[in-house]
Amino acid sequence: MRSHPDACPGAVELHAAADGGLARIRVPGGTLSAAQWDVVRTAAAELGNGSVELTSRANLQIRGLADGVELGARLAAAGLLPSASHERIRNIIAAPLEDNQALVDEIDAALCADPLLASLPGRFLVTVGASVSGLGGDFGLVSDVLLLAGRDTGIRVADPVSAVLTAARLFQQLRGPAWRLSEVDDGVRKITAHFGATDAPRLTPVVTPVAPSPLTPGVPLGRLDAHQLPGVPLRLTPWRSLVVPAGTDTSGLITDPESPWHGVSACTGRPGCAKSLSDVRADARAWLGTPHDRPVHWSGCARRCGRPAGDVIEFVATGDGYEEIR
Ligand code: SF4
Repeated sequence: MRSHPDACPGAVELHAAADGGLARIRVPGGTLSAAQWDVVRTAAAELGNGSVELTSRANLQIRGLADGVELGARLAAAGLLPSASHERIRNIIAAPLEDNQALVDEIDAALCADPLLASLPGRFLVTVGASVSGLGGDFGLVSDVLLLAGRDTGIRVADPVSAVLTAARLFQQLRGPAWRLSEVDDGVRKITAHFGATDAPRLTPVVTPVAPSPLTPGVPLGRLDAHQLPGVPLRLTPWRSLVVPAGTDTSGLITDPESPWHGVSACTGRPGCAKSLSDVRADARAWLGTPHDRPVHWSGCARRCGRPAGDVIEFVATGDGYEEIR
């Protein structure tokens, strides 16, 4: 059981990283207008270290900030900070190739309108759509199915927004110090009982990454330079890739499924993480081109942050090179 509140950074409440303040900007559903993306990348260039990171929850991060005041003002003016009190809980991942942003926006607005939900953990997560249903949301929607802690317990809902709101309120009442529904004793059963589920579960949650293509380019090591993609509307995916309009200049991004960058990931490493024993991102770049038949993840220490699920080759810094784990 957790003994301390979570410390997930927000866009205004920064994490003090080794390379300066780190802001995490929630982007529910991953959709950014061209104007919003320009605000974020310009802020990264003028206030941060000049790059924008994509997270595994399809959010954005800016590093190297002095504080969150100016960034917060710019984001609020761009409509990217609609609720200062709820910003850390606006974690909604949506299937990026489905037409679901309107539903995401309704869920987001409903969560932000309830003052009691402002103190949900920053780890709270809702998924919308089939292809992201296996990403471990506390609650997930796939058509009329409401998933709890990544499981179909038989709940079918007529009003998905109301259902997520009700489930989130129940979680908040039940959770104590827990950060995730899966950590709450008997939490899934109690919420299932509240909904009076009687159908046999049918749906198996899945994860279906979007394959890199000219319209869904991948972002090498999840980091964009602030000068990339000016004036382009984006949809962020939880696989550190983007959905962009046809004709977008995707130079510097991964568009070829045979690219050596495909499947290569790394944690923050040096200089951003004080725990890191190595500049893993530089080492991953130097290693690039070595054949690999599975995803490869580089970590700066034994915590192995950001390791993808499944069958992965890992390089873990030891302070004296890397341990290869297969
Ligand atoms: S794996 Fe270690 S070095 Fe990498 S981000 Fe996590 S704590 Fe930092």
